[in-house]
Formats: sequence, structure tokens, C-alpha cells
Amino acid sequence: MLLFGTAGVPNSSKRRDTISGIIRVKELNLDCMEIEFVRGVRMREELAKKVRETANENEIALSVHAPYFINLNAREEKKIEYSKKRIIDSARIGHLCGARNIVFHAAYYMGDDPKDVYKKVKKAIEEILSVINFDVVLRPETTGNWKEFGTLEEVISLSQELENVLPCIDFAHIHARTHKYNTYEEFTKILERIEEELGKEAIKDMHIHVSGIEYEEYGEKKHLNLRESDMNYKDLIKALKDFGASGLLISESPNLEEDAVLLRDLYRKL
Ligand SMILES: [Zn+2]
Repeated sequence: MLLFGTAGVPNSSKRRDTISGIIRVKELNLDCMEIEFVRGVRMREELAKKVRETANENEIALSVHAPYFINLNAREEKKIEYSKKRIIDSARIGHLCGARNIVFHAAYYMGDDPKDVYKKVKKAIEEILSVINFDVVLRPETTGNWKEFGTLEEVISLSQELENVLPCIDFAHIHARTHKYNTYEEFTKILERIEEELGKEAIKDMHIHVSGIEYEEYGEKKHLNLRESDMNYKDLIKALKDFGASGLLISESPNLEEDAVLLRDLYRKL
């Protein structure tokens, strides 16, 4: 079964804090929420524990999106260290919140050979994993732009090679980056690939981002609401259901909960 939720506090939440967001997610009959640490990990441990209690009481699953300002292929060693720290902090506070999936955009190519970037990213994630002694899954995301590390192949390979690493599959990003992957057959192809390379367990433990998307030749321009985009979300939901995908599906559309509800209802009607 798939759980449906929002990237951050729903727009219709009266207050903007994480706890109010969880309560609003529950009122909307949604199942999960991604905590957005995208501008930095500023949540204190005390609050994280309260977030965990609120999520437990309301049976809302949580995940975390690490800060955007991460580049494991940065030129300066110091910037790589800061990037690693941001992922570790996201994981630590996320874990206190009861989140298991820690999503991040791993790196930029910076004009380097993607194979070299892969090696650097892998090494950095290994170092991150070596200091994480609690139960989280690191989720490098499929990114929406040619300049960004994060093809489907790259995130699958990292997941094969490293323990406690699984992909975050952002279907809008894959579509924006390739201008393909927008039909039932193509969505199924992605799922088959994941199953072949990572096993049925990975299909039963997915982390998915969906939104409409505007894109240019090189990829993503901005996120759109599903109905205002060319994203073939109906076939995507059908492919996920037919394939038996389970896990968290997070709406990253500007209207957040409206598209989360739209997708949830489509899924339930199938
Ligand atoms: Zn992301």
C-alpha cells in the first residue's frame, strides 16, 4: 500500500509549524508528511521529540528532506564536510522525529566526468553512514536537471552498493530531465528496473515524489500543479498500483495537499 502526503506543512494549515502540519495532514485524511529542512536543520531536539509524539498519536508517517545547499562534489573540502554535516544533522533530528527516510540531492557534476562524481558521492555517503548509528534510510533523489548528479541509474547503483541507502524516485524530475518517462509503459519500466536491481523489497519500500513540472531542454524549471502540467499522473498511479508499490508518496506540487488528495483518491478508486 502507498501512503500519501505533503512536502511540508499543508497550505491549508492555519499555523506553519511542523506539529500543526501533522494535525492538518490527519484532518485531510492523508497519511504522511515530509519535513522540509531545505533551508537548514534548525529544529531543536526537544521539539523533535514532540513532533514524534504528535505523529505517533495521529498515525502519520514522517520523512525528512535535507537542505538544498548540499554538494558532495564541491571544489573545497570544507564545503563537502558541511554538506555531509547537513545530511547527518537531517538524519539525527529526523530520527528523533520518528522519520525513517532522509531525502537529499547529493551533488552537482561541476563539469566533471559523472563516473568520478559517482565515486566521490559514494565515498562521502559511506563516511556519513559510518557515523550514523540509528535506524534511518538515506535516500539520494533523482534530480531534475542535467547539472545535478542523480540519474535513475546513479541512485540505483548507490543503493546496490551501500547498506541503508535506497532511492527517492521523483517521477517529475525524471520526466523533466529526460523529456520521456510519462507513459504507463515507461513508469512500469522504472519500477521493473528497481525490482531487477534492488529486489522486491525495494518496491515494497519506496519513497516517491510527484508533482507537475515545467521544463526546458536541460530539465526542470519549476513545479506545477498536476492538472496544469503535462504530467501523466493517472497512468503513474495506475502503474504504481498494478506493480504493487508500497511506501511513501509525497506531493511536491505548489498546491501540496490538493494534489496529494487527488492522487490518493485516484489510487483508492483503482
Ligand atoms: Zn528534492
